[in-house]
Amino acid sequence: MKCLETTWMQDMIRICGDGFRQGWHERNGGNLSYRISQEAIAELGDQLHYDQPWQSIGTEVKGLAGEFFAVTGSGKYMRNVELKPESHLAIIEISPDGLQYRIVWGLTEGGRPTSELPTHLMNHEVKKRITQGRHRVIYHAHPANLIALTFLLPLDSAVFTRELWEMATECPVVFPEGLGVVKWMVPGGKPIAEETSVFMEQVNAVVWAHHGLFCSGTDFDETFGLMHTIEKSAEILIKVLSVSPNKRQTITTADLIALAADFHVTLNPEALHL
Ligand code: 13P
Ligand code: ZN
Repeated sequence: MKCLETTWMQDMIRICGDGFRQGWHERNGGNLSYRISQEAIAELGDQLHYDQPWQSIGTEVKGLAGEFFAVTGSGKYMRNVELKPESHLAIIEISPDGLQYRIVWGLTEGGRPTSELPTHLMNHEVKKRITQGRHRVIYHAHPANLIALTFLLPLDSAVFTRELWEMATECPVVFPEGLGVVKWMVPGGKPIAEETSVFMEQVNAVVWAHHGLFCSGTDFDETFGLMHTIEKSAEILIKVLSVSPNKRQTITTADLIALAADFHVTLNPEALHL
């Protein structure tokens, strides 16, 4: 099977265009990565080439030794992935010591994987371990309403979680564990990757103040759906705050408890009892 015709690659390409059309990917904003199964890699056969040099990841991901990832390229525009996927995306292999990667497919016009590779890979390492390999997708976008909230709400995970839960009844069911909030940090390096991956031990979505959101999920639909749900909720909150600083009524703690019981989810206790 040709690499570009595989279902997972088609899904990856589709998300890049969908995210752009949502307004989440100005210029080269945002990036995406997918942990490819060993069976899917075996099916690619001689489409992969192993003659590129090993390069430093900038952090250590021993738990991903020997894994292969499809990733977006640094500086590439998400809106153009559909047009030229082979020059905008890469497949990379992680070295046995978890310190390096090499490009085995793609980026046909040159370039390197996303500058957020340390965060993507450290998140993957956590999620692979704690979900017994079920989570395969990490997605980073710049959704405007959520970013706007990082100027208005305290940069506190429980506060963000509670405010977003209250904006749409589906939210506590979609992200019962809540979301993490990382204060403003320089992007692209190991320190922000470390902060983010600590939150990923507990939650599937981590806000970067004044920057964007990282989401994790089992597949592209689930991960895109989480990004979409959180940003929709942020949009409602921005609308509410734009009209009045005070809500006249809201979903209460008792409502949340009733919802959790009916939908069989365990809500983050810190956000629930705020
Ligand atoms: P890249 O183009 O390197 O993926 O960076 C985009 C981005 O959103 C950085 O946070
Ligand atoms: Zn970004």
